[in-house]
Amino acid sequence: MTIQLQIMIFAFAFGAVMGSFANVLIHRLPLGLSIISPGSRCPSCSARIRWFDNIPIASYFILGRRCRGCKTVISPRYPLVEALSGFLFAAVIFRFGIQPATAALALFVWALVVITFIDLDHRIIPDVISLPGIVIGLAFSFAPGFPRLVDSAVGVAIGAGFLFLVLYAYEKIMGEEGMGLGDVKLLGMIGAFLGWQALPVTILVSSLSGSLVGVGYALLKGESIRKFPVPFGPFLALGAIVHLFFGVELIQWYLGIL
Ligand SMILES: [Zn+2]
Repeated sequence: MTIQLQIMIFAFAFGAVMGSFANVLIHRLPLGLSIISPGSRCPSCSARIRWFDNIPIASYFILGRRCRGCKTVISPRYPLVEALSGFLFAAVIFRFGIQPATAALALFVWALVVITFIDLDHRIIPDVISLPGIVIGLAFSFAPGFPRLVDSAVGVAIGAGFLFLVLYAYEKIMGEEGMGLGDVKLLGMIGAFLGWQALPVTILVSSLSGSLVGVGYALLKGESIRKFPVPFGPFLALGAIVHLFFGVELIQWYLGIL
């Protein structure tokens, strides 16, 4: 096995473990519960989940998709979040190699996973992730391989400022809330980590994908697009990830066809 492949497998395994922790945060943060104690419990029967039943991805299948104690069906979302997190960690290593920026980018992508599922469940983006995320993103601009501090700071200001104006205009014109301030702070965090240069691709991809899914939903359900039940945070996260992995190529391609 090549060393490259071994590193990727390790990154996937580590990412899956972080995905397991992401599941804890997704479940507990919005409820205001401690994220450290008690240890993992079955949401149905509250039985402690022992370490050998708590192996990311694998335990779900070994246990036959049910809790060992009460036999309640375990949501497939748990292994899905673990696999997604593992895949993203491996992808970050594949794209950026081993350098200080890689660890920070893995943390950033992991935070986007947590935010995505909390927003899907509760339509909130917790400040305890996005606000420290902005500070950490700015702090990392002193590390090699990261956008300069000025690019990060401008990224926060333009990212948050732009979305705040959109939100303000939408409320004025439509007389109802479209996005929340959580989305504003999330785009600020994305700007902090990736610099202002990431904002065009992030905004374009998130608004396009959000519109497509929204229109698709409206057509399928025969309902107004305004009743679309999916929040905007996951689309912003998708846009940031598309920029992270393909942004340079996308911008070059776009400038090339002009
Ligand atoms: Zn149970």
